[in-house]
Amino acid sequence: MHDQTIARLSAGLAAGEFSSEELTRVFLDRIERFNPGLNAFITVTEESALAQARAADQRRRRGEAGPLTGVPIAQKDIFCTDGVRTSCGSRMLDRFIAPYNATVVEKLNAAGAVMLGKTNMDEFAMGSSNETSFYGPVRNPWDLDAVPGGSSGGSAAAVAARLTPGATGTDTGGSIRQPAALCGITGIKPTYGRVSRWGMIAYASSLDQGGPMARTAEDCAWLLGTMAGFDPRDSTSADRPVPDYAAALDRPLEGLKIGLPEEYFGEGLDSAVARAVDAAIAEYRTLGAKILEVSLPNSRLAVPAYYVIAPAECSSNLARFDGVRYGHRCEQPKDLLDLYTRSRAEGFGAEVTRRILVGTFALSAGYYDAYYLKAQQIRRLISDDFQRAFEQVDLIAGPTSPTVAFNLGEKTDDPITMYLSDIYTIAVNLAGLPGLSLPVGFVGQRPAGLQLIGNYFAEDRLLNAAHRYQQATDWHARAPVAFA
Ligand code: GLN
Repeated sequence: MHDQTIARLSAGLAAGEFSSEELTRVFLDRIERFNPGLNAFITVTEESALAQARAADQRRRRGEAGPLTGVPIAQKDIFCTDGVRTSCGSRMLDRFIAPYNATVVEKLNAAGAVMLGKTNMDEFAMGSSNETSFYGPVRNPWDLDAVPGGSSGGSAAAVAARLTPGATGTDTGGSIRQPAALCGITGIKPTYGRVSRWGMIAYASSLDQGGPMARTAEDCAWLLGTMAGFDPRDSTSADRPVPDYAAALDRPLEGLKIGLPEEYFGEGLDSAVARAVDAAIAEYRTLGAKILEVSLPNSRLAVPAYYVIAPAECSSNLARFDGVRYGHRCEQPKDLLDLYTRSRAEGFGAEVTRRILVGTFALSAGYYDAYYLKAQQIRRLISDDFQRAFEQVDLIAGPTSPTVAFNLGEKTDDPITMYLSDIYTIAVNLAGLPGLSLPVGFVGQRPAGLQLIGNYFAEDRLLNAAHRYQQATDWHARAPVAFA
């Protein structure tokens, strides 16, 4: 059962081949067996999972089940879960029990999905390797010496290792797509505003977006259909109907125009990753797509602009962790200032501290115009580049990340090299566009991913294009040997 997709498990539940309780036990057993070696979960909610599974089975007997009823999933530990620790990968929130559910959690619960637990992540979603987590790094199921990517590294590793058939992630600069690529699974970052951010701990609010991670585009379609939708509690939530993503999956690709940005195939791209991406593009040609060249001339400015804007927003968002209201509080503060400074110094790790400092600096009087304002102007240029490209093409394709998974510890001393692993994903967040990563091959035993970028609210087209490719190929069906 553990090797089945959500679509298949859902059909099995509907046909009465197994109960949700049986299915949930299969995954809980696998988590117990494999999680110690992978560290993909921070918290396993065994009891409530079994209770949810039994409730799902009853709901099915009453004839009230939907497609996700009784299907196990995992939640990234950035989503608030009522009564369950919500750590955000940080010592700051190590003992924080959320008093309410994030909208995404509420929606998946309402659909009858069973939460197996909360997945490991880079601290406050800041990282590309899952090595900044207070709970230690996650290992990549394809090669235990390799990182799973980040920040949604726990979700990606858990799906790849068949510890859960699907999971949630969040993506501020690549954190769904890059770990999906490095772990050989499928993940989609929706258009900004498509999925509610309410109850999702904020990193950089103008960039953060939640989305699904699973083995196939079809499974992502089902999850996204449940997660998406207008939420009056999130003022940036898009008030437009959620299409039936699953219904659009089979559309033929004849005549689909796919643009290849020359800037995504230049220096810095590993040649073996480039070969896997080229082969995937050739497959799209076979499927009837027209391949065109496009240009995104301001691409090289995306990483520098992001590393002003994201830290600026994080310095403001993380000001709430002051040791007073919730989160870590130092022992015996001697006065209020000591309480603030020691609680924050003890609660935050090195990368988070670095970003708060950079962000505070970039926003300070005298530097605001030189850094923050400039970065916002670049952001507009980057969005304009995409809009010009979308006048010529329907989708844009390229590598998700310049390399396959790197070794644990390989980039931890060099933040700039680490930041460059998101060089192809970050611009998509700056523009607020949807982007999807799907597995398209291997370099040695490590997976490579293809990124597809769509225009605003073109999630249906992205999922459709990924699904057709997955019907013609089997990269998404491969399992890491030790977890097959
Ligand atoms: N790696 C990028 C960063 O560290 C993106 C992280 C994310 O998308 N949450 O900020």
